[in-house]
Amino acid sequence: MLSFAGLLLGAIFPFAGAAATNVYDYVIVGGGATGLSLAVRLSEDPNRTVVVLEAGNSGIGNPNITNLRLNSNNFGTANDWQFVTVPQVDVGNRVQAQVQGKVLGGGSAINSGMYLRGNKDEYDALERLGAKGWKWDSMFAVVKESEHFHPPSQTEVETFNMTWNPAAHGFAGPISVAIQAVNVSHFFPEYAVPTLKALGHEMNNDPNGGFHNGPSWDFLTSLADSSTRSYAVSGYYLPVMNRTNLRVMTESQGSKIVWSSSSTRGLMTASGVEYVVFHESGVPETRTIDAKNIILSGSALNTPKILELSGVGDPEVLSSLGIDVVVDLPGVGANLCNQPITTASYLLKNGTVNAGNAIRSAIIDIQPFSGYLSGEDLKRSEELLQTKPDLLSEAQFKFMKEQIKAGVPQMEFAWNVAADANNVSTLRFDRLILVKPLSRGTVHINSTDPLEPPVIDPKLAG
Ligand SMILES: Cc1cc2nc3c(=O)[nH]c(=O)nc-3n(C[C@H](O)[C@H](O)[C@H](O)COP(=O)(O)OP(=O)(O)OC[C@H]3O[C@@H](n4cnc5c(N)ncnc54)[C@H](O)[C@@H]3O)c2cc1C
Repeated sequence: MLSFAGLLLGAIFPFAGAAATNVYDYVIVGGGATGLSLAVRLSEDPNRTVVVLEAGNSGIGNPNITNLRLNSNNFGTANDWQFVTVPQVDVGNRVQAQVQGKVLGGGSAINSGMYLRGNKDEYDALERLGAKGWKWDSMFAVVKESEHFHPPSQTEVETFNMTWNPAAHGFAGPISVAIQAVNVSHFFPEYAVPTLKALGHEMNNDPNGGFHNGPSWDFLTSLADSSTRSYAVSGYYLPVMNRTNLRVMTESQGSKIVWSSSSTRGLMTASGVEYVVFHESGVPETRTIDAKNIILSGSALNTPKILELSGVGDPEVLSSLGIDVVVDLPGVGANLCNQPITTASYLLKNGTVNAGNAIRSAIIDIQPFSGYLSGEDLKRSEELLQTKPDLLSEAQFKFMKEQIKAGVPQMEFAWNVAADANNVSTLRFDRLILVKPLSRGTVHINSTDPLEPPVIDPKLAG
């Protein structure tokens, strides 16, 4: 094992096992949900050597990561890229925070752990848009293989009338999933569920079977205690970290692809990746790692930056920064879509509700627009649907309109009750989410410095 302790910040090869090699079979840039799970699957073959470059620290054992309920403690810390958007013209020029995991496990280390598959219609639309084989039936069979569902206890089922559908889950995969069952306040069965029923929203016994509509219990990527996080590190990486053909390098930020000298324009071959490490003094050092295959998995906000710095992207963006165009690919950094979230809080009358302890979003409600919008709002949304947002493709717009009309859910509400130190309870709708916005934006570089953040413009409400 190589050690640069004392010279460099963090650990370069922090984990036991892998021997250094000159040319890896695979270098994976970004050790998040995608990158780590892919590295573990690829290195199942002992004849393949795999290295992961992760810009953040390992985060292993950090309680803000292991305790799912403390996830927001990571926001604004070193475990978060701390990105912000450019001022959003259609929401009063506000700048929005874009929390993004910068730690081994990526988003899976700091997210809320909500476990919810897409709707059947959405997966099927992928195939109809041209991605052959990417449809509900084939995806459903595969994603279940990654899941280990822990059903709630008989007592929890009887107390809260919890439901789930065994056919919608896997029981032998690396990522644990449980229903939020521990310390649930009686508020949920006594107030939340009857309120939703009175609004005409019938309970959905399990939203993971391809049909979201309706209120349901919240499924979380957690151990059976519903508070210990199960994520790419604990589920995929830690059980196999001693593999000699798998190496994970934290605090190592990939900056660009190195192209082989034998490349010709139009047929480019990558030979490795350039990356940055930091000395204790804060001085960055650029290094190169050689590999036969390069996989970029730095997330939707970071991967376009690496491609553009490598000369892959929209010629207009690249030439404005003096970067030679290696591959003319205008889609890089385009079609950016993010889900706007807002929160509404209400103080509850003292003494009416026992908020229990450490409760989060035990009930979620997912609805088409007609489930929550007034008649007037629905009319207005019909008008809005007459015009395609500028950066949304015709094909996507067509499918999205069809789905809205067919009642595929578009809005998500998460009920959350919490008590403060004085036992004053608050009801929060902490996730009022527009799950499928029509607006499309961009994420591009505006500097050739790999350490500069990208310019993020999701064009919220645009
Ligand atoms: C606050 C928050 C809450 C969320 N809540 C939920 C939820 O409840 N349920 C749900 O299903 N999803 C949720 N998500 C989304 C989910 O976490 C992401 O969809 C998922 O993690 C994306 O996986 P990914 O591999 O594409 O990217 P990530 O998991 O973000 O991984 C990317 C990794 O690449 C690293 N990286 C980036 N650039 C470089 C570089 N140049 N060099 C080296 N490493 C680099 C990053 O540090 C990161 O570790 C949430 C996300 C956030 C941020």
